[in-house]
Amino acid sequence: MTNAPRTPDAARAPLPAATPVGYPRIGPDRELKKAEEAYWSGRIDRAEFARRTRALRDETRARLAELGLTGPAAIPETFSLYDQVLDAALAVGIVPDRFADVLGADGASSADGSGSADGTIDLDGYFALARGTAEQPPLEMTKWFDTNYHYLVPEIGPDTDLHIASTQVIDLFRESLEGGADAAARPVLVGPLTLLLLAKAQDGAPAGFDPLDRLDDVVAVYAELLARLHEAGATWVQLDEPALAADQRIDPQGLAALLERAEGRLASAEDRPQILVTTPYGGIGDLLPGLLATGIEAVHLDLTRGEIPSATQLAGVGRTVIAAGLVEGRSVWRTELPTAAARLALLRERVAEAGGDPGAVVVSTSVSLQHVPHTLERETDLPADLRATLAFADEKIAEIVALAGSSVAPGSVDGPRSVPRDFAGVRRNDVRERTAGLTAADLERSAFEVRGAAQQSRLGLPVLPTTTIGSFPQVAGVRRARADHRAGRIDDAAYEKAMREEIRCVVALQEELGLDVLVHGEPERNDMVQYFAEHLDGFATTAHGWVQSYGSRCTRPSILFGDVSRPAPITVGWSTFAQSLTDKPVKGMLTGPVTILAWSFVRDDQSLGETADQVALALRDEITDLEAAGIGIVQVDEPALRELLPLRASDQDDYLRWSVDSFRLATSGAADATQIHTHLCYSEFNEVVDAIDALGADVTSIEAARSRGEILEALDPERFSRGIGPGVWDIHSPRVPATEEIRSQLSAALDRVGEGRLWANPDCGLKTRGYEETTESLRHLVEAARTVRERA
Ligand code: GLN
Ligand code: ZN
Repeated sequence: MTNAPRTPDAARAPLPAATPVGYPRIGPDRELKKAEEAYWSGRIDRAEFARRTRALRDETRARLAELGLTGPAAIPETFSLYDQVLDAALAVGIVPDRFADVLGADGASSADGSGSADGTIDLDGYFALARGTAEQPPLEMTKWFDTNYHYLVPEIGPDTDLHIASTQVIDLFRESLEGGADAAARPVLVGPLTLLLLAKAQDGAPAGFDPLDRLDDVVAVYAELLARLHEAGATWVQLDEPALAADQRIDPQGLAALLERAEGRLASAEDRPQILVTTPYGGIGDLLPGLLATGIEAVHLDLTRGEIPSATQLAGVGRTVIAAGLVEGRSVWRTELPTAAARLALLRERVAEAGGDPGAVVVSTSVSLQHVPHTLERETDLPADLRATLAFADEKIAEIVALAGSSVAPGSVDGPRSVPRDFAGVRRNDVRERTAGLTAADLERSAFEVRGAAQQSRLGLPVLPTTTIGSFPQVAGVRRARADHRAGRIDDAAYEKAMREEIRCVVALQEELGLDVLVHGEPERNDMVQYFAEHLDGFATTAHGWVQSYGSRCTRPSILFGDVSRPAPITVGWSTFAQSLTDKPVKGMLTGPVTILAWSFVRDDQSLGETADQVALALRDEITDLEAAGIGIVQVDEPALRELLPLRASDQDDYLRWSVDSFRLATSGAADATQIHTHLCYSEFNEVVDAIDALGADVTSIEAARSRGEILEALDPERFSRGIGPGVWDIHSPRVPATEEIRSQLSAALDRVGEGRLWANPDCGLKTRGYEETTESLRHLVEAARTVRERA
């Protein structure tokens, strides 16, 4: 591969001085979600759906132009009807055989649902892959790097017929041209290497097949797409390669070789737009020189997590443009512009030192802005001093525009600065004194044997006890009561009465079913993190701060801006009410510190570990109050423990240390006779089994329905020594498991872990299930546990 200047494109339009990696696509009022839900339910037809999504894109383009993104290729076209990984997979024809039916339908691939072509997928086919059909489950969904966004996992085999199965990327470019040449978008696709690294072998693929085996074939289709974009007049195309920022299943040398092969091939294609490769979500270290050598025209670097590259690393920069990702796209804090400007100046010096053109460095975001809400403009209820420190997507675009302009000289005093975060609530002496006084003893409980005996004599549980994970179905009445209370349509007393009524039903049902450890059902919680955020000091909530989680699903993360403390008990009233209704033990239900951090926007002016300890102390006080009120079992959920695991193995030990410590801090104040449970929501148990053991919970329930074999394997009694409940009912589907199916799972688990340690429970909370399947499934679960118990 050479770095010889190429002129594939007569226009050779420069990359604009300021341009983000991507922008939110759900719409400031969740227009995309609303249009999708209306279309899926049949309330609007395809034409109306196309009209609405088109309007959303037009408004987005107008807004971005207004924010200063003007000129060809300034606006990255990151709209997606559901997911950018699915879009890229379809662009090159990665459709699993099990969905062969949806290909070649009479529909169209274009975003507006018009036109037609053979071998392409239409709108309903697209949604079939995303959401499943009566016959086929959807593509699997999993987390996009270390964010809360979820992508669809492409399934590919050795014989998958690769071809352009969706022309959306071209159609959207053409659409942007309708706004005039100056509005020409920069088409964006997930890059070929990342696409295949995120893909999995489709069912039935021969052992040893790796999706990467199809790299050359996939790259050939990308080349075709590039040619068509070029023909349509695109001057730039953006290929996102975030996989370069994470440790992968192949070693760095292997990765570098594949990268050079893929991007190098695209760079040597005859007719193509100029190529910008982005590398969001972290530093790419030694992969930079290889990337610069491929002959692509621009490389984006995440400089909020990665270092400014050295002149040596930049040696091959030549005429390559560097897009400096200086504005953090994952957080909601304003950028310290003078600091960022100084780093930009340093990068320019290094580029010059390496023989490149310092003037060709442009300013960008670290990652796509899809992880932050649209705009701060409408958040008028936020305290003014907090608001002054925040920047959502639109404000971050203003930041890159400012940095790219001359208004922010390094060290300049008149450039826009970030406002110091030093207002009321950010630092609280009472909280700081408590964390400063913590010692190792605060993380310890008595030996497990001692606790176990005390708990057994208090609780008197049978062998193989049965329980649930916490929430019960959230019926319409419950949701309505919460919404009415929030809106002031019903008063506290009416709300309390509605919740108590629900708790009464949930407790009665569990008694009737014969479960051993009961829950109150969590009817008062809209969301397991937001509920706690709303009851703790140090958090703010937004009115419109929606962020896409996946497809049509959005969350409104809270903002953890200050020192965290608990002004009053949070859950004690509900739990003790439930306990008053039964002689069976009722399990108190809390969300753990790591999960609270993972699903909020967290302050970045101190380490996550420090913040986690503050949350942990608040939870510790809550447990003390639950105990004093007579609750003998408390579950502290940590479903996000695995999610926050850093992308680089070298960062993982530090993370596991503070995260495990925060859980221990939250739970170690409990008396010996108080049984601490935790719940973890993922099946890649093996990787973190030691950390989970280190949490020290008396009982751990985990999601297991999807990869039972591996989980049983991991449950080596030598490695994991306390109570364990591998989920025996996959609550992600409405299917009711038969008693015999659960019985055989339980007995296999019993053989592995031994009696006295095994619990019987579903995979996760039941909030999204209906009562009918819940009742039936739990009945089977209790029956199965009884049968196995008799054998034990
Ligand atoms: N206790 C929570 C519930 O049952 C746990 C949810 C979760 O693991 N995500 O809903
Ligand atoms: Zn769960």
